[in-house]
Amino acid sequence: SPRAVDPGRMDEDAGEAGLRPQTLEDFTGQKASRENLAIFIAAARARGEAMDHVLLHGPPGLGKTTLAQIVARELGVGFRATSGPVIQRAGDLAAILTNLQPRDVLFIDEIHRLQPAIEEVLYPAMEDFQLDLIIGEGPAARSVRIDLSPFTLVAATTRAGLLATPLRDRFGIPLRLVFYTAEELRQIVSRGARKLQFDLTPEGAEEIARRSRGTPRIAGRLLRRVRDFASVARPGPVDRAMADAALSRLEVDSLGLDAMDRRYLRRIADFHHGGPVGVETLAAALAEARDTLEDVVEPYLIQEGLVLRTSRGRMLGERGWRHLGLQPPARQPD
Ligand code: ADP
Repeated sequence: SPRAVDPGRMDEDAGEAGLRPQTLEDFTGQKASRENLAIFIAAARARGEAMDHVLLHGPPGLGKTTLAQIVARELGVGFRATSGPVIQRAGDLAAILTNLQPRDVLFIDEIHRLQPAIEEVLYPAMEDFQLDLIIGEGPAARSVRIDLSPFTLVAATTRAGLLATPLRDRFGIPLRLVFYTAEELRQIVSRGARKLQFDLTPEGAEEIARRSRGTPRIAGRLLRRVRDFASVARPGPVDRAMADAALSRLEVDSLGLDAMDRRYLRRIADFHHGGPVGVETLAAALAEARDTLEDVVEPYLIQEGLVLRTSRGRMLGERGWRHLGLQPPARQPD
């Protein structure tokens, strides 16, 4: 069964659209990014121009799509969404670009998965709002230049490091999203519960928040799972004990780690004496794709100091040992 704490999008998240904040004001957390965006939005509105292009980077589920939609709404312009892997041919991108209205927001999710040939089409579009297309084939082929409406590209990526430098440089507003604090997540969970008309005590909300790995998407999903659990248990508000029981049944532990995370930590402890061990080796041993480990499993473990990323590979951090109920080994001199 899919991991309850996977920060990626799943079918069961279809209901999350209703929980999406609609305005910058309603958007909890990410203070630095929010403040930046507020200034750029106000300036673009005042000038009546398209806002500069925005690159949102950070782990999945932190609100990149949500922010892109909010930017469009606050600018009072149209919103069009696609993603890197969906755009297969230059013509696909050309069709989207030529259909944009002046100042519209085009959201491209997973931009790091755009094919290089298509990236080339994007450069003049972003820079000069122009499209260079080759029409026809062979000796009859000729190039035509098409003027586009000025637009704002909002692109999202889980790993900015994978972007080609010329692409990265074309974003005037690069923003890094960070994991949410427990208090921010508690607010998000409480607000979600109210929207779902689900009677959750503040302590119940706190318990869900604490186990959501700093990620609103996971918070929303755990909230819905706890609600399902509660609906077949006893009546009355859901408190900490009830939330804890539901989450424990999902095998989500006190830090929000699940069986997969614990397998990962255990592997480093039991087979590599705490590391360092290369991510490829871990991926093979756990039968997981390396990308999944790097994008989905590791970011939170590293942020929490459970795992350390060193030049020689992954190591179990002091907190990682303790979380497994083990003593960290005495430090070896290098
Ligand atoms: P990403 O595009 O980064 O993967 P999304 O924007 O799709 O993430 O957000 C995932 C879920 O989390 C959505 O249901 C969204 O409503 C919720 N969410 C994200 N950020 C916030 C926030 N700051 N406040 C409340 N809910 C949020």
